[in-house]
Amino acid sequence: MNTDNFKLVEGLRKQINYHNYRYYVLADPVISDYEYDMLVKELEKLEKEHPELITPDSPTQRVGEKLTGGFKQVNHEIPMLSLENTYSWEEVFEFDRRMQKELDIKPEYTVEPKIDGFAVSLMYRNGKLIQASTRGNGLRGDEITNNVRTIKSVPLRLLAEDKNLMNIEVRGEVVMPKKSFERVNKEREARGESLFANPRNAAAGTIKHLDPQIVAERELDMIVHSIPSVPESYKDHYTTLKYLSKIGLKVNSDIKLCKSIEEVMDFCNSWEPKRWELPYEVDGMVIKVNSFDQQRRLGETTKSPRWTIAYKYPASQETTKLEDIILQVGRIGTITPVAVLTPVNIGGVTVSRATLHNADEIARKDIRVGDTVFVERSGEVIPEIIKSVIEKRTGKEKIFKMPENCPACGSKIVRQGGEVAWRCENLQCLPQVQRRIGHFVSRNAMDIEGLGGKVIAQLIEAGLIKNFTDLYWLRRDELLKLERMADKSVDNLLKAIEESKNRDFFRALFAIGIRHIGIHAAKLLADHFPSIDKLKEAGLEEINAISEIGPVIAGSVVEFFENPENLKTIERLKKAGVRLESNVGTGLKPASTKSLAGKTFVLTGNLTGFSRIEATELIESLGGRVSSSVSKNTDYAVAGESPGSKYDKAQKLGVPIINEEEFKKFLKSAE
Ligand SMILES: [Zn+2]
Repeated sequence: MNTDNFKLVEGLRKQINYHNYRYYVLADPVISDYEYDMLVKELEKLEKEHPELITPDSPTQRVGEKLTGGFKQVNHEIPMLSLENTYSWEEVFEFDRRMQKELDIKPEYTVEPKIDGFAVSLMYRNGKLIQASTRGNGLRGDEITNNVRTIKSVPLRLLAEDKNLMNIEVRGEVVMPKKSFERVNKEREARGESLFANPRNAAAGTIKHLDPQIVAERELDMIVHSIPSVPESYKDHYTTLKYLSKIGLKVNSDIKLCKSIEEVMDFCNSWEPKRWELPYEVDGMVIKVNSFDQQRRLGETTKSPRWTIAYKYPASQETTKLEDIILQVGRIGTITPVAVLTPVNIGGVTVSRATLHNADEIARKDIRVGDTVFVERSGEVIPEIIKSVIEKRTGKEKIFKMPENCPACGSKIVRQGGEVAWRCENLQCLPQVQRRIGHFVSRNAMDIEGLGGKVIAQLIEAGLIKNFTDLYWLRRDELLKLERMADKSVDNLLKAIEESKNRDFFRALFAIGIRHIGIHAAKLLADHFPSIDKLKEAGLEEINAISEIGPVIAGSVVEFFENPENLKTIERLKKAGVRLESNVGTGLKPASTKSLAGKTFVLTGNLTGFSRIEATELIESLGGRVSSSVSKNTDYAVAGESPGSKYDKAQKLGVPIINEEEFKKFLKSAE
């Protein structure tokens, strides 16, 4: 009987280990989450009935007891060296020349993404994980076995039986995937705890946490990249890594074997933009001589192996000083705080400004003028302030306060209910005028070349234009009087303005700058209404009925045409000969069915992930409606933090109430 149970339990463990591997290591599951859960439940049940059958490597035993006191220290039999690294191709070529000279032949190289994580060593005995440790000083590190056991991609038991690899040490990087990082920081923020600066810090802070339960919740991952003591039968790094993957360890799948240093360079360069798409942070590429025999011949220095070098991509995050917070007035009057920084080089680009989004965000992150801050730049995005370094405060830092008046025109600024942004509502406010014109001439809109911000400012200053319609009445002789305006540039400018009169209708519609009308919405509207006059005549309901267009956009369009100033603008554009209709008469298109079509939502309380307008737009983009009051026709009430009376009413009427997390899932499944 007992042997039968033993077999049953072992069989289940094997299955669970295998599916765990398919899911966490290969990201290629072959059974559903439900089936997986059922297997685990069955194992848990059997183990509960027969506790004598529980073994430490059972998949049910990943999360252990909280540690009291500190970590035990362990020695590394083979020192954990660090990598030599460089930002310069010249040094990589120099490395290649050195390798060729010492080996007397051209070596093959393996190249793999350099994961920006926390170095960890794993010890397996008889195929079972018996110890995990940090690098420490390279010779001695902390024993963190219980924490590493919670990482689902680390096998507690190796998959295949291979005599050569049953007793091995493997090394790799523990990382916090970007997704977990965002979630963890959000939760910390909600609890008023300090944020992790980046995923690397978060991984380091987590792996040395005393409570394995917390480590498990943070969802770390581990990518294995080497075996310090290679069995005789393994000849090279590339095939060994492939083999490690087969026995259950997670290795980098984006590894390449290269025949020359030029090929290495091409591969590294191809990954520079692609690395942002990976689920974890990559800060460079590791180049290794592939042959183990050659590696042995090259040996190592006291600091690092001589057969490998890391080529590092320019950094994406630096610290610098926040010198000031200035306010920028946008096209529709939104006032955005912008950080003025002590210029700092981030990834080869000097950054001296960064966005701070809005006043609430500054308060939430407690960012003060004079603080040392972490600035991050990734891809094309505007640099962003991640957090302040509170330890570096001197007490002289100033807390930012939103002024009551527009910094440009002095009008009182306002904030509409549910919105985070403060706005200046004065339509004559100069930066707004400038930006509206800038928007009108921009590439996706009327695409008028030669009208950069400086020229626009110059034209306004000279009294030649007050708004974008004036562009069509600019005269050659007036323009020639301006500074830096020669015959040729004036001719080009006038030609570009003339050409813009015949842009597609949807571009003109976008250019006019109706609030909430992006290029996509402009296209939908232009597809539906063949001219601006038809759009003007349309009522709220007709606009609202267009698929993907909801009440926020529809309301904004109707409001736009109610304003006499805007009607004048349209008339002037028509008079100038700007095309405000489609060239082919489009009939009305049937509204397609959307996944949230016909569903009515009510929002109550504060959502942390998005503003109320954003949430409304999201619902509307999926075909749903947002109502301001609860009735029995309401399909869902979305309740954020400290919800109001709508919450109570929804409860009374039996309207389903969902929280923000559920709402996000809801949107996701509706996409
Ligand atoms: Zn203003």
